[in-house]
Amino acid sequence: MRQKLVVGNWKMHGCGADNRRLLQALVAGLPTVGDASVAVCVPFPYLAQAQSLLAATPLAWGAQNLSEHAQGAYTGEVSAAMLADFGCRYAIVGHSERRALYGEADAQVAAKFAAAKAAGITPILCVGETLAQRESDETVAVVSAQLDAVLDAVGVAAFADAVVAYEPVWAIGTGRTATPAQAQAVHAAIRARVAGRDADVARGLQILYGGSVKAQSAGEIFAQADIDGGLVGGASLVAEEFLAICQAANR
Ligand code: PEP
Repeated sequence: MRQKLVVGNWKMHGCGADNRRLLQALVAGLPTVGDASVAVCVPFPYLAQAQSLLAATPLAWGAQNLSEHAQGAYTGEVSAAMLADFGCRYAIVGHSERRALYGEADAQVAAKFAAAKAAGITPILCVGETLAQRESDETVAVVSAQLDAVLDAVGVAAFADAVVAYEPVWAIGTGRTATPAQAQAVHAAIRARVAGRDADVARGLQILYGGSVKAQSAGEIFAQADIDGGLVGGASLVAEEFLAICQAANR
């Protein structure tokens, strides 16, 4: 039985005072959540705050991006080792906003995945199709190609301690969620793709769904056989809503 995992992606939101309130409310509410693991991926400047407020709690934290380089003349970039210094357990790689707005291609995403692993950080690899790709029946092909690019670069064994997030681009921040059946079909295809390389790794792989998850929709989505939790954007900024989503992971 794979453990459920719910990860909040704050994106570029927050300030010191609001974050403190949100993190304290999450920590206070965590005992109501049950067995699911919970994490928040905060903007870089707030990693120290997350570390100091969360270090002695079950709430894990991570980053939303990282450099594929170990160190050097890369102004503005943040390395995996720096994230490790701040106790990050997770780093999101290949979020569709990074791919679309910052031109991150599969090879760079794979290098970021490898950099995270090398520093002992669990990468959360995001894959997902655009609306046009779904409408032309390319969903599984697109997601498989995104996955293969990383599998080819790092090897399937690296997925033994990694997380994949299926995030249909058309569902992110739009209020439009994939139906549980649509999401399950893609999750099953992702697991089968990994199983083609290593069945054990595929069986243990946590595959999260992301795309406008709300407390109301989470239960049915998380109940699907190949859905192991969620990557949650907007709803992770409201403590009550995020906690309710985490609770739904245990039903
Ligand atoms: C995300 O940020 O990855 C995401 C899924 O956002 P939202 O939940 O707001 O759609």
